[in-house]
Amino acid sequence: MVAKNCKDRFSSADPHKVVALYDEFVALKSQADSLRAERNENSNAMKGKLEADKRAALIARGQELKDELAAVEERLGGVEAALQREGQRVPNLTHPQVPIGGEEHAAVLKEVGSPRAFTFPVKDHVALAEALDMVDFESAAEVSGQKFYYLRNAGALLELALVNYAFNKVVSRGFTPIMTPDLVKASVLEKCGFQPRGSGTQIYAVEDSPLCLTGTAEVPLGGVYMDRIVPEAELPVKMVAFGHCFRTEAGAAGMAGKGLYRVHQFSKVEMFVLATPAQSEALHQELIDIEADMFTELGLHFKVLDMPSGDLGAPAFRKYDVEAWMPGLQRYGEISSASNCTDYQSRRLNIRYRPGAVAKEAGSDSDGGAEAGKKGAGKKGGAGKKGGAGGSGGKTEFVHTLNATACAVPRMIVAILENFQQEDGSVVVPLPLRPYLGGMEVIRPPA
Ligand code: AMP
Repeated sequence: MVAKNCKDRFSSADPHKVVALYDEFVALKSQADSLRAERNENSNAMKGKLEADKRAALIARGQELKDELAAVEERLGGVEAALQREGQRVPNLTHPQVPIGGEEHAAVLKEVGSPRAFTFPVKDHVALAEALDMVDFESAAEVSGQKFYYLRNAGALLELALVNYAFNKVVSRGFTPIMTPDLVKASVLEKCGFQPRGSGTQIYAVEDSPLCLTGTAEVPLGGVYMDRIVPEAELPVKMVAFGHCFRTEAGAAGMAGKGLYRVHQFSKVEMFVLATPAQSEALHQELIDIEADMFTELGLHFKVLDMPSGDLGAPAFRKYDVEAWMPGLQRYGEISSASNCTDYQSRRLNIRYRPGAVAKEAGSDSDGGAEAGKKGAGKKGGAGKKGGAGGSGGKTEFVHTLNATACAVPRMIVAILENFQQEDGSVVVPLPLRPYLGGMEVIRPPA
């Protein structure tokens, strides 16, 4: 079942290899244990008075055992590292309703509006933004390189308006607002299912440091509850963050990348949820509904897609993408994505809860849960409090994690400029953004 799932997801992970490595690991571990036991017996036998030749034989055997154990331990270390490496590559399981196949198998779950009929030749967002003096690609190319940009005038204000609008919308739905660090440890990236190193990585690493520039606020948000037990009563935990995203976009050379569409740095408002397994599917729906409400309110024409197995990456159990019509580019473009990662990230991040928590004696954990509760007592409600409001004792389980884009700024700017352009090159500001732009109704070139 796992091997078929890997195939369906176009993953090169090999679960049979993982099983073989595990068997080898167990065999070597038991060999190491018996060598250790024999070594102890051997050294116990040396206690007390002994004849010289017997002592010499025991010493020689002790040396042999020491060498054998060192050799087995070395192999064990190598096998354990390989087991971890191969095991980490195995992707999450897949929701039974997810279409199997590549990108072209995405299923349309919902379609809102229809493409606007233009009575004049449409421009793309680059032509519009340059004429309105909203972007400066030239300076950015000199200062940072290709696929960087400056936003200027209404462009800069539009980013702030979009961020504020999306933040307020999501906060009004009960999410805790958070500002996250943009630099994160490579180990946390890995636990969230990203690969900070190696060829084809999307991650920028900081030289001589364990830190990387994060590609999404999902990573620092996932890390907030790392190594904690969250009281069941606190679930779902809903967070929304503003963060900068940094992406090498390795391998994206041939992909549509004009102007602001695919860039190396962008601002994003990101939702992140911790939930019980029973809650997670409904929350996935809630996340996509929040996105759809915003895009509808902004007046965009878009489709919600149930992404196929080959497009899920490693962590997602199910992923809904939103694609908006972009008249200048003459195609639909992805503007957001909502994933239910079930327990894929929480296993790596070690985020647990205790189902049906009943107050019991603290310290009766049988599964390492007490260890997980070691830090942060009193912070974030009862999270991590051993024997606190969440209850203690009883088996812990992994939470489910979900993430979703509330607003990926550059793609929203592309969609707004191209959809709401007028014949004279000005752009009508969507109604919900006007309060965040001092009432500006139309973007015109600066005087
Ligand atoms: P992801 O975190 O990869 O699901 O991306 C979230 C959203 O960010 C996507 O749905 C896109 O709208 C946007 N996005 C992803 N990559 C880029 C990029 N390189 N440049 C601009 N926007 C991007």
